[in-house]
Amino acid sequence: MTKLTNYTEKLVKDELRMVLASKPEICHCRTCQLDIMAHALNNLPPHYVASDGGHIHTMVNMSTAQLKVQVIAALVKAVEAVARHPRHNKKRGLNTISRQ
Ligand SMILES: [Zn+2]
Repeated sequence: MTKLTNYTEKLVKDELRMVLASKPEICHCRTCQLDIMAHALNNLPPHYVASDGGHIHTMVNMSTAQLKVQVIAALVKAVEAVARHPRHNKKRGLNTISRQ
């Protein structure tokens, strides 16, 4: 089945793991990870591609490397922003996330 994929979102997911691995001091819970992704994606241009079966075959080659650089820069900023203002109480453990 062919569907639309935001390639920027895929890159953000891939690179988030790398960025988090380099910042062990910040919270890695799912809430913070999603907040970081949302923050980064709101500051990045979307790159929609048609894909089938999860395979992306029409990515514009020229912009991939450039996009990756932008993604990492946006993620670093997003990590800092979320680390400053986490949506849950820092003193509680990772298992007691308050949701709104
Ligand atoms: Zn967290």
